[in-house]
Amino acid sequence: MTASTRPEVWFLTGSQGLYGEETLSQVAEQSRRIQEQLDAAPGRPATLVWKPVLTDSAAIMATVLAANADPSCIGLIVWMHTFSPAKMWIAGLDLLRKPLLHLHTQANVELPWSTIDMDFMNLNQAAHGDREFGYIQSRLRVARKTVSGHSSDPAVVARIHTWMRAALGYGALRALRLARFGDNMRDVAVTEGDKVEAQLRFGVSVNTYGVNDLVEIVNAADETAVGELVTEYGHAYRLAPELVVGGERHESLRYAARIELGLRAFLTEGGFGAFTTNFEDLGGLRQLPGLAVQRLMADGYGFGGEGDWKTSALVHTLKSMSAGLPGGTSFMEDYTYHLVPGSELILGAHMLEVCPSIAGGRPSCEIHPLGIGGREDPVRLVFDASPGPAIVVGLADLGDRFRLVANEIEVVAPVEPLPELPVARAVWKPAPNLRTSTEAWLTAGGPHHTVLSSAVGSEELADLAEMLGTELLLIDADTNIRHFTKEIRWNQAYHRLAGGL
Ligand code: MN
Repeated sequence: MTASTRPEVWFLTGSQGLYGEETLSQVAEQSRRIQEQLDAAPGRPATLVWKPVLTDSAAIMATVLAANADPSCIGLIVWMHTFSPAKMWIAGLDLLRKPLLHLHTQANVELPWSTIDMDFMNLNQAAHGDREFGYIQSRLRVARKTVSGHSSDPAVVARIHTWMRAALGYGALRALRLARFGDNMRDVAVTEGDKVEAQLRFGVSVNTYGVNDLVEIVNAADETAVGELVTEYGHAYRLAPELVVGGERHESLRYAARIELGLRAFLTEGGFGAFTTNFEDLGGLRQLPGLAVQRLMADGYGFGGEGDWKTSALVHTLKSMSAGLPGGTSFMEDYTYHLVPGSELILGAHMLEVCPSIAGGRPSCEIHPLGIGGREDPVRLVFDASPGPAIVVGLADLGDRFRLVANEIEVVAPVEPLPELPVARAVWKPAPNLRTSTEAWLTAGGPHHTVLSSAVGSEELADLAEMLGTELLLIDADTNIRHFTKEIRWNQAYHRLAGGL
């Protein structure tokens, strides 16, 4: 699950030929300085690569086509240092297929009041050069993020980094191949969707494989590799006594390791970054995959239960966005509520498949019966999610388009220990409160499967939604139902118009 290329963002500077060589070399020197300052910022998610100043439509077109074709280029940051008559940008912007950030900045922080003359004014005119560029982007309906401020301002840098993370997710989703073992859980509606439309809009390609293709690889797993993996489990987790070597159910742990080896081999060989399973269709598998799914998610793979390919793709996307950040990202499902007035909470979990990247401590590796599926007891990791701010986000197919619904939440410690609950779980307080959050979520038609992430936030999601041209309904501290319901209606009209009637 390692990226094959080092992600780059290209830094483009717009100008025009009539300023002459001397001014243009100053433009180049100053734009290089801004690029260097931004590229030196700690924690940048991608390398910022400077490109020569653009002064005509042929050079702009050539740069955009090169960006489109370069797999390591995840997006463009564009700044008009001087005035760049924007008709020269039309052809290039019209062909652009990578995310765009319009940086509205200038070389100097202070105006040199006592020395300012017309040479200075002619050199430093982003204040109107960027307005010309803003106009043409709006005229062409180009999706972008606009960030205004000096490159030395940490808030500017932070907003650029947020956009870079969204661009990483966008790139990962565009290239994603997703394997479904079995189809959708029978009769479930929200996990269905238009896979052809998803491939067009998002890039992800979703295809089904017979689960017995996986079973063959699981059964053929090398005994030595199984032994090594079991040893690794012993180092990473607290193993239940019955699962350790010599324990009465050790064989179940070895079978869980076989599933992991088989799944890993299948996904690696097929170039898949995400997958789904379905407990109704396990073929010759003796256990529903639990531990294996949890460990693969921790390595960056997307996952959705019950054939839920949309959530699986979203898990992989958010994991790609959060590369290198603290916190974690997991498949999640709203399960049950604590409705005590004033301290309402949501308890989220799944049958087995919660990612240990959100664990608050060392997970415990256990084996328990599973009421559904009709197979042997599956091995799983059990833990409480780490407390702190997070988001949950779901993707629904509305028939004519997709909708993202997200909620800002605070993960908290369980009110009391949960000694009888044999699955990993997260307990959280949704913003602005449980009543408004759930009324808004249901009004939006948001799914019961979500991605929970403590690594990325709502600004990254908003940037991603903009890149994807997909609606994002955010439920946060400012949400009230009356406005939220109107937002849904207005969005419905907007997306119909934006998509063409
Ligand atoms: Mn489920």
